[in-house]
Amino acid sequence: MHVITLIPGDGIGPEITEMTKRCIEATGVDIKWEEVHAGVEVMEKEGTPLPDKVLAAIRKNKVAIKGPITTPVGKGFRSVNVSLRKKLNLYACLRPCKSYPGVSSNYADIDLVVVRENTEDLYAGIEFKEGEKETQELMDFIKSKTSSEMKKDTAISIKPISRSASEKITRFAFEYARKNNRRKVTAVHKANIMKYTDGLFLEAARQVAKDYSDIEFEDRIVDNMCMQLVQKPLLYDVIVLPNLYGDIVSDLCAGLVGGLGVTPGANLGDELALFEPTHGSAPKYKNQNKVNPTAMILSGVMMLKYINENEAADRIEKAVAGVIAEGKFVTYDLKRGKNDSSPVGMAEMTEAIIKRIKNDEC
Ligand code: NAD
Repeated sequence: MHVITLIPGDGIGPEITEMTKRCIEATGVDIKWEEVHAGVEVMEKEGTPLPDKVLAAIRKNKVAIKGPITTPVGKGFRSVNVSLRKKLNLYACLRPCKSYPGVSSNYADIDLVVVRENTEDLYAGIEFKEGEKETQELMDFIKSKTSSEMKKDTAISIKPISRSASEKITRFAFEYARKNNRRKVTAVHKANIMKYTDGLFLEAARQVAKDYSDIEFEDRIVDNMCMQLVQKPLLYDVIVLPNLYGDIVSDLCAGLVGGLGVTPGANLGDELALFEPTHGSAPKYKNQNKVNPTAMILSGVMMLKYINENEAADRIEKAVAGVIAEGKFVTYDLKRGKNDSSPVGMAEMTEAIIKRIKNDEC
């Protein structure tokens, strides 16, 4: 029996988590779920959006799956998602973006994997607010060392990039490429402008690439990479990036394969793993039985593969692909045009997936 930590999240999180649980249970895999809560409602009740018991449960069970969690914009508590990744040292964020026939998209046959560094960069949470004493002290220090002067009303975010984290994430990308028969790793950066931070990331990636002569390696500047992905996505395979570019490029790649509703994800460390979709908590759709459960269900598929339940994982993925290809029991975002018959709700799409999982039983 596997014991898995389940974090339903907030917004659309609890609904899509329930759908995912049902699909996994339909395979017959022996799982005991240990449910713990984090997010907006927990903040209201417990004064923290991420209670220690959540971290303890993940550390104990080693594997967790979570729904998205809302982060207030510009004020309020810091991102629970970023805190989880940092506190548990889940240094690699893995986001496969694969075309499923039937999904409405301008592209076909895309099979990209985004590997995002998860612990540092501008997401490190080291920020200095406009008008505060510490911010002025930092500006004075910078002026004394570099003679660069900033406006008095400046806010500052720090972008730490280390050689060790850059090497670790690139090695992760190459190891993934090797294990999954991938042909190429592309490192993405802006080292022409940020010579020390992105320059270090690129230098570390080049160094690691020397240990993997069986896999092609190249690098791209992030702005050019965005254009290339839109124009020629089939040229790329595994893409490795620092945290911020990784976040942005993941959504771009999700857009290539039909949107956020179909792209799963995993946050991985040396011992712990936390699976979650790429998309957020879409609060406007909360409790409407409306959004696509696919990204969360496919995150469950990634989790099953991680715990070596490959047969169950394949059955769910095949069932999801079948329902999408048939195009009958799919949510609004998967409908091709205005003339398509009306979409179904999330629960009806999940029922169609479960029917196929059960019919495919060995
Ligand atoms: P979002 O991903 O929640 O939603 C953006 C849009 O994408 C939605 O309006 C909807 O049109 C579409 N969408 C998202 N999920 C979908 C699904 N399953 N099916 C169909 N369409 C879907 O992004 P946002 O609006 O920028 O963020 C909302 C909140 O989620 C914010 O507080 C943000 O910080 C948080 N967030 C959390 C995570 C996480 O938990 N890992 C990730 C990203 C954003």
